[in-house]
Amino acid sequence: MPLDLELSEEHAALRATVEDFARKEVAPVIGDFYERGAFPYDLVKKMGAMGLFGLPIAEEHGGMGGDYFALCLALEELARVDSSVAITLEAGVSLGAMPIYRFGNDEQKAQWLPALAAGEKLGAFGLTEPGGGSDAGATRTTARLEGDEWVINGSKAFITNSGTDITSVVTVTAITGEREGGKKEISAIMVPAGTPGFTVSEKYSKVGWNASDTRELFFDDCRVPASNLLGERGRGYAQFLSILDEGRVAIAALSVGLAQGCVDESVPYAQEREAFGNPIGSYQAIQFKIADMEARAHTARLAYYAAADKMLKGEPFKKEAAIAKLVSSNAAMDNARDATQVFGGYGFMNEYPVGRFYRDAKILEIGEGTSEVQKMLIARQLGL
Ligand SMILES: Cc1cc2nc3c(=O)[nH]c(=O)nc-3n(C[C@H](O)[C@H](O)[C@H](O)COP(=O)(O)OP(=O)(O)OC[C@H]3O[C@@H](n4cnc5c(N)ncnc54)[C@H](O)[C@@H]3O)c2cc1C
Repeated sequence: MPLDLELSEEHAALRATVEDFARKEVAPVIGDFYERGAFPYDLVKKMGAMGLFGLPIAEEHGGMGGDYFALCLALEELARVDSSVAITLEAGVSLGAMPIYRFGNDEQKAQWLPALAAGEKLGAFGLTEPGGGSDAGATRTTARLEGDEWVINGSKAFITNSGTDITSVVTVTAITGEREGGKKEISAIMVPAGTPGFTVSEKYSKVGWNASDTRELFFDDCRVPASNLLGERGRGYAQFLSILDEGRVAIAALSVGLAQGCVDESVPYAQEREAFGNPIGSYQAIQFKIADMEARAHTARLAYYAAADKMLKGEPFKKEAAIAKLVSSNAAMDNARDATQVFGGYGFMNEYPVGRFYRDAKILEIGEGTSEVQKMLIARQLGL
């Protein structure tokens, strides 16, 4: 039987709609938001109205009833134009809403999901701490049960979407006790924005993703109801790891979008820009650079499609997700460097998107598990 790599009609239509939105609505305005480090509320509102924040969420919870691959396609198309907007969607859905969708009880889903799926509110996911992100089990934040309340103390670092005007809830991991043998018991707890004792820092000054919201979180005797526990007590770490497996496929799609955006920008530029009396695209050195860029984007896309295929079939996909994240973030980084080179001095100017791609690519090798962590995961799946 032949392999089927064709998109379904629904997936193809979604991709075309998001491509159109990205080119017509995002591209003309995002450079200005990026320069100012401002959060693009209007674009988020429009993406919400398009249903993008509810793509993989069932209709009964206010979503579109689609699948996770649909989210990946939307992320790829957005990131071809801009990664700040794409990561706002990625974190809002994959990190903000999905933990509640996957592990919440009926009341929690009814309380939080409709507004998150509509993009009217944003959720965030706080795993990383100032003391470390790769070793996620080294959490220091604590939550002790006092009567019918959790009392949370500690801090979280680099949390996306955590401090916007429309952020409604942050789910955080915290130590809630000790298991036999002295191991930490880690649970996930939802903290509504504005809860006394929960504060967020000013936005970080970042190298890239400048129109996205990233902050440090502080918990100082922050009290939330005991019913804000998400999923089973003591399963917080395992829950987060499964959320990250999905999230890696989403970040891979976003990375492929950036890698493809570099090709989109480089081809017409190479056809128009002249040096030594000819378009630079007539020189093989430039052609090969762009051919390599296209090959990287293409192979990385196949890697994330393969991971998504297993995910949708309900098969184990941990290794494939890690491979997709590893190769696609490498592709994004390499393509951003090469596209900037094709543009010469103009590549270093903010008026062209490739400079933004260059600044946005590096985090893809770091966020939701560094490249080293992906290699650790792949090696572990190979039995090492
Ligand atoms: C813009 C941005 C947004 C983010 N958004 C979120 C978010 O929404 N939620 C969230 O929870 N986190 C978020 N993060 C955090 C991100 O996931 C972490 O930065 C990442 O996991 C790495 O953790 P770290 O920064 O503590 O680096 P460290 O863990 O300190 O690692 C430093 C270096 O050491 C390497 N290293 C560590 N251990 C090993 C080992 N055993 N073997 C080999 N090399 C190793 C790492 O690969 C890395 O190169 C975000 C980060 C950024 C920058």
